[in-house]
Amino acid sequence: MLAMNYRGPYRVRAVNKAEPEIEHPNDAIVRVTRSCICGSDLHLYHGLVPDTRVGMTFGHEFTGIVEEVGPSVQNLKKGDHVLVPFNIFCGSCFFCKKELYSNCHNTNPEATAVGGIYGYSHTTGGYDGGQAEYVRVPMADVGPTVLPADMDIEDAVLLTDAFPTGYQAAEMGGIREGDTVVVFGAGPVGIFAAKSAWLLGAGRVIVVDHVDYRLEFVKRFAQCEIVNFKEVNDMAEHIKKMTDWLGADVCIDAVGAEAVGSALQHLTGVKLKLQAGSAIVLHWCINSVRKGGTVSVVGVYGPTGNMVPIGNVVNKGLTIRANQASVKRHLPRLIEHIQAGRIKPSEIITHRFPLDAVSDAYHIFSSKLDNCIKPVLIP
Ligand code: NAD
Ligand code: ZN
Repeated sequence: MLAMNYRGPYRVRAVNKAEPEIEHPNDAIVRVTRSCICGSDLHLYHGLVPDTRVGMTFGHEFTGIVEEVGPSVQNLKKGDHVLVPFNIFCGSCFFCKKELYSNCHNTNPEATAVGGIYGYSHTTGGYDGGQAEYVRVPMADVGPTVLPADMDIEDAVLLTDAFPTGYQAAEMGGIREGDTVVVFGAGPVGIFAAKSAWLLGAGRVIVVDHVDYRLEFVKRFAQCEIVNFKEVNDMAEHIKKMTDWLGADVCIDAVGAEAVGSALQHLTGVKLKLQAGSAIVLHWCINSVRKGGTVSVVGVYGPTGNMVPIGNVVNKGLTIRANQASVKRHLPRLIEHIQAGRIKPSEIITHRFPLDAVSDAYHIFSSKLDNCIKPVLIP
């Protein structure tokens, strides 16, 4: 089969690989119909995630058709159209019982923090991902969700990660009626966080980025105010000025590791490319939120992103929440929002590529060329 293949930082291509097989009675094999590239894949592509091994296939946002099921799978059958959450989870451990599926204890042998994730290095279990014609789906009774009959597969593929992650970002913000919410990052996750903030009752939504075409997109898609941080000297001061000098009620970090390069470059004027350092967007969040406010972090940080300005956190009495999204928990509610016509997730898909153009797809998405917001591979 054809599959995306990692060769080293900034080097990916499509190659022929052996088709996956059932390895465990709980496995299914899924023939992939759509597979997105995520901002999280860019951290792998940029070489920021430890133990990303040459030869690996990325891809944790995919829909497909069940091709084969292992002998103990009860809830799926050959021919089912499914969306597969990016988390691989057992459904029965201490954490899964609390619906913390992203922290499953049984699907990542390292089991220190995060559970299993498709195509996301050996730090999350070393599973091959879905940027391929076929993928092995472990714990197949638990994660995959059969698509409602009227669901467009391009809406469905955004339910595997980007929309639920944006939603969880807003939910972890504990938004109350009328709150002012600032979202840092106008990528797919930030776009869905902004939209979700309204769904959860925000009174005002402001999105910050430095890529104009993305800011223009989110302004239209989520009817929010926008700030280009290249035009701002002091971010916290700017947000305070916009909020009667109090600060925002909730700040959301939907940037993660990319911020380390982009914001340091902005502040220092020195051209830096994904340089190790502190997590600047997190600082912007902590400093721009009002006293007693909440900072919600879904941006993924590499091992260098561990510096937190704890002094301000204590003195301002902040709540900080963060996690990888637990996709399955949000699906019933988000499917309802789609069916009620309150959101059309696939509107963010700007690019469609065949699998053998995977190298172009990563390059265009990573370099923000051609007004790219969300690329999808069609095997
Ligand atoms: P993306 O790379 O498409 O978008 C990131 C956006 O942030 C870009 O538009 C970029 O211009 C902007 N940006 C860069 N520096 C910035 C700064 N200093 N301030 C404001 N904006 C800045 O990625 P995405 O797919 O939207 O994902 C966003 C983040 O969410 C990534 O870190 C990704 O790994 C993470 N993520 C987390 C989860 C989770 O479960 N927690 C799931 C999916 C993605
Ligand atoms: Zn993703």
